[in-house]
Amino acid sequence: MDILEMNFVDGFIRMCNDGFLQGWHERNGGNLSYRLKSDEVELIKDSLNFTNEFEKIGAKVPNLANEFFLVTGSGKYFRNVIINPEENITIIQIDGTGEEYRVVWGLTDGGRPTSELPSHLLNHSVKKRVTNGKHRVIYHCHTTNIIALTFVLPLDSKVFTRELWEIATECPVVFPDGIGIVGWMVPGGEKIAIATSELMEKYDVAIWSHHGIFCSGEDFDLTFGLADTVEKSAEILVKVLSIRRNKLQTITPNNFKELAKDFNVKLSQEFLYEK
Ligand SMILES: [Zn+2]
Repeated sequence: MDILEMNFVDGFIRMCNDGFLQGWHERNGGNLSYRLKSDEVELIKDSLNFTNEFEKIGAKVPNLANEFFLVTGSGKYFRNVIINPEENITIIQIDGTGEEYRVVWGLTDGGRPTSELPSHLLNHSVKKRVTNGKHRVIYHCHTTNIIALTFVLPLDSKVFTRELWEIATECPVVFPDGIGIVGWMVPGGEKIAIATSELMEKYDVAIWSHHGIFCSGEDFDLTFGLADTVEKSAEILVKVLSIRRNKLQTITPNNFKELAKDFNVKLSQEFLYEK
C-alpha cells in the first residue's frame, strides 16, 4: 500500500500543519513522533527500504525493540511537511536490542530524524510501559504563552498546574494528573531525555522552561488537543496577569472537587492546596 495514503501518515501530516498554523513551529522548531501499530507496519512493509545501516539512538529503549516510528526530520520545517512529506518526515525501525535505529522510508533529500530522537524514544518507552501500549504519539512544540509563563511563574509543577487549572474549567478534566516542569536544559541530548522521561512516569505534559511543551497521548487528536488546551490556558493566564497582578476571583479547590465528581476524573490532591 502507498505509504502516503495510510491514515496514520495523513493524521501526522495534518498535525504538523495544524501546529505550524498555531504559530508553534517557527523555522525548524518542534518535532513529532508516532509509534506504528503492527497492522500498519504489515500494510506498508513492501514499500520500506531495509538496506540502511543501523545507528546509535543515544538512549536505551529495550521495550521498543523492533518497533517502527514515523518522525519529523532534523532541521526540517513543519510548514513544509504538507507540501513534501517524503522529504521532511521519515519512518525508522528500532533494532532488536532497542539501542539502534535505521531509516526505512522518507528523508528523500537526505538528513536524519529529529535531533530530539533520544527524548522521543525514551518517552515512548516510558509511556508504552505506563499506559500498557495505549500512548503512541509524542509531540514537542514551541508554545508562545507557556514559554512566557516560565519567566514569571516559579518553575514548580504545583504552581503551574494549579494556575493553569484555575484558568479554564476544562483544564483539570483534560490534564487531571497535572503538568511536570523541566528547568532550562540543553536540548537534543540524553540528559533532557532522561529528565523528561522521569516526569512522564506521572504526567502526560512536561514544560521545558524557556523552550516549550513536550507531551504524550494515545492519538493525534488527543495529543494535539492536550497541547492546545495547555497553551490556550496559558494564553488566558498571560492576559489576566497583564491586566492585573492578582485575580479578583477564581476556581477554588472546592470547585475542583465538584468538577471532578461530575466529570468522573481523579484529580491529584497535591494540586488542591489552600493558598
Ligand atoms: Zn524545541
